[in-house]
Amino acid sequence: MPMLIRDATVVTMDEAGSVHAPGAVLIDGTRIVEAGESDAVASRAPAGCETIDARGRIVLPGFVSAHNHLGYTVFRGRAEDIGHAPTHRLYLPMSMVMRRDEREALGSLAVAELLRGGVTTVFQMEEDAEVLVPFIERSGIRASIGLMTHDVDLDRLIDGETVFDAGERRRQLDRAIGLARECHGAAEGRVSGVITTNGLATSSPELLRALRAAADRLGVPLSVHLGTGERDMVRQIHGRGLFEYAQSHGFLGEDVLAVHCYTIDDADIDALASTGTRLAHCPLMNQFRGSIAPVGDLLDRGVTVGLGIDNYFSDFFDLVRSCVAVARIRAGDPEVMQAPEALALATIGAARAIGQEDRIGSIEPGKQADLQLVDMRRYGLTPVTDPIRTLVYHAHAKDVESVLVAGRVLVRDGVLLPVDEDELVERAASAGATAWERFHGRFGAHSA
Ligand SMILES: [Zn+2]
Repeated sequence: MPMLIRDATVVTMDEAGSVHAPGAVLIDGTRIVEAGESDAVASRAPAGCETIDARGRIVLPGFVSAHNHLGYTVFRGRAEDIGHAPTHRLYLPMSMVMRRDEREALGSLAVAELLRGGVTTVFQMEEDAEVLVPFIERSGIRASIGLMTHDVDLDRLIDGETVFDAGERRRQLDRAIGLARECHGAAEGRVSGVITTNGLATSSPELLRALRAAADRLGVPLSVHLGTGERDMVRQIHGRGLFEYAQSHGFLGEDVLAVHCYTIDDADIDALASTGTRLAHCPLMNQFRGSIAPVGDLLDRGVTVGLGIDNYFSDFFDLVRSCVAVARIRAGDPEVMQAPEALALATIGAARAIGQEDRIGSIEPGKQADLQLVDMRRYGLTPVTDPIRTLVYHAHAKDVESVLVAGRVLVRDGVLLPVDEDELVERAASAGATAWERFHGRFGAHSA
């Protein structure tokens, strides 16, 4: 049945930056039919269509998180204060002991939290990524899903030695390609497959070339962590410069989503810009690691940038605020990265970064009805003198009242409808406890 959301402030994030107040959005099935001035849109709505009175609310596109590891909620409270050490001290060792049911429970919690806070699309790359597909489909969120590959011997890696392993490579390639092929287009097209690898220090040339070939064959994007302080390690292991190694094996280009890029130089910025490589910028993670990606320079050079949560965090409004703050600190200029630009990186920019700007990221006719309604009558949000600035500087995930994906209401009055939230939290808490128990049993010395 068609649905009319009326008498709201509609922040479209279209090319012209249109805001309609009072505004309305008319939806039919999975798509947006029209957005504009409230009475005018209402006059064209079919008789008897479901109508939502959205006075006091802002309607904006759902957030798009261009980079996530959903099951890494397990590291909450453990990884934030140990600098760049988590990958070797926590993430890789945990991947050796974490059970699939534990990852499923912790990742499902993250999906629920993101949806509840207005995130309607997530680009998910993780070990054992297959385990989350059923919950992602059931939850109603839109997702790109990739197995995060590597081909090193993990036992030796945690002792500080990098040894590539052909058997591991074959197993990971089979799983990654199988997953991308199977889930691509699933859940009425809400789920897409992607091909991903963790980083260049844990990927051999053979692995990178095989992943590139698979992405070409399947017509799906590639993604990799890049520019995270691994430059010396890559030179030592592969005997090449970081970006030279990436480029020579097909990991720069218009279908590549590079993640982080917080330790890059001018030549690297040139390489990203000239190849059309896109960037998933994760400012919350950057700020806690003490390094900030040169996003202003990258945007000036025409690089497509979208925001991503990465790990542990779930409030996308915190991420948008962080994007503003770190850009200003990096530039030493309190006026760069204005609120509308940051909000664009969280919506249409991130949709572009993951290659889905023709379907999502703004409220425009023909696009998927992926929307969030924020209740602006909550404490901390009054008066709303400028809808975009009030949202960016003052709103929180908890202020999101309703969320729709593909026209389906998934959150209503702050309640996530498709899942039992209490059961989910309990299951995730117990999965966290058992995963850490096993971790400490095996890697006591590596524990943070
Ligand atoms: Zn990451």
